[in-house]
Amino acid sequence: MLNFELYNPTKIIFGKEQIEKLPTLVPANAKIMLAYGGGSIFKNGIHDQVLQSLAGFDIVEFGGIEANPHFETLMKAVAVIKAEKIDFILAVGGGSVIDGVKFISAAVPFEGNPIDILKKRILFKEGATVLPFGTVLTLPATGSEMNSGAVITIEATHEKLDFGGSAMFPKFSICDPTVIDSLPKRQLQNGVIDAYTHVLEQYLTYPHDGYLQDRIAESILQTLIQVGPAVVENPTDYALASNFMWSCTMALNGLIQKGVPSDWATHMIGHELTALYGIDHARTLAIIGPSLYTVMFETKKGKLAQYGKRIFNLTGTDEEIAHAAIAQTVTFFHTMGMKTKLSECTDDYQKAADFIVNRFEERGWKALGERQNITPDKVREIVERSY
Ligand code: NAP
Ligand code: FE
Repeated sequence: MLNFELYNPTKIIFGKEQIEKLPTLVPANAKIMLAYGGGSIFKNGIHDQVLQSLAGFDIVEFGGIEANPHFETLMKAVAVIKAEKIDFILAVGGGSVIDGVKFISAAVPFEGNPIDILKKRILFKEGATVLPFGTVLTLPATGSEMNSGAVITIEATHEKLDFGGSAMFPKFSICDPTVIDSLPKRQLQNGVIDAYTHVLEQYLTYPHDGYLQDRIAESILQTLIQVGPAVVENPTDYALASNFMWSCTMALNGLIQKGVPSDWATHMIGHELTALYGIDHARTLAIIGPSLYTVMFETKKGKLAQYGKRIFNLTGTDEEIAHAAIAQTVTFFHTMGMKTKLSECTDDYQKAADFIVNRFEERGWKALGERQNITPDKVREIVERSY
């Protein structure tokens, strides 16, 4: 097992009616920015619940953080925070609102041009000055509620870039599984596939001696396969909702990544498809993942075979099982309402490979993946194969 440090200070408050605990979680006498997205929290009552719970607190609201949050929008929140002398941010939403708030939190005290946080991928280490924030999660998917990363889109240049660091963990996250009742089917499907792919990014690498990490990763995959299709049909079932929500958090809170290699190339390529075509984050992963496993088959086949045996109970030679495991993954993605070809999502797909390879070369990204063997040629092959 590789050496590792584990640091995760986010307090998770999980369960029904936990929004009531907000007054005990936010700092006393804090002036709070309540940050939210396109307004779903007004329709499903979460906005009312938050305001009732925080009665007596000085609250400034900032809405309109879009899906795949824009740098340009977030900078408006930064200006409000400075003008209003706000000292705590409460993100109420899914990954986009939470990621957006992470950026706002870093940008408010940042000395220099905040766009550099993204362009130069500044690392905010433990102890860095950032504005503290907490979250009320409304969409299980990204794990952003218990991790220290964020992905932000620069509208002007159509770039989707990530940043983070151990100073960027939420102080707390309230995870109430009943909030998923109001999610459209499409977002429930997205949540399952984003979380599933987060696990695969940390699992489908090469055989190693992180036996426990593999077993934890496999149990999250199995749970998502068990509850995923059912929760989409029945989001009011609390057993399904709670297991779905906790699986998504566990998939990307850092635990299964410790001491083992990880890949993340599916996400890096997928982000470009969102920047280029506006395809939902999870849907880009369903397009790129299977293609990447196929192109990188020779170096991933050991782990693909383990995955095929332990998750899908496949039999045969390791080579056969590894191929069949990719096919089973595609079948699962289809069951979850995903399309797995880029040409099914846009007519303008042929430009994708050139665009992505150029972008990666501009940024000097010449070697991705757990073995740093996903070169620009491989990226091209992966994208073209996904057409
Ligand atoms: P999202 O973009 O936050 O939300 C998608 C849609 O769902 C929005 O229209 C939102 O509406 C709506 N919604 C949220 N909660 C709802 C509810 N309870 N009822 C009804 N509608 C609801 O989706 P997401 O998948 O959570 O986040 C995706 C973003 O996270 C992407 O930018 C992706 O790159 C990023 N990401 C981050 C990480 C990380 O570790 N930080 C990992 C993976 C992906 P409103 O706008 O009205 O709220
Ligand atoms: Fe993701």
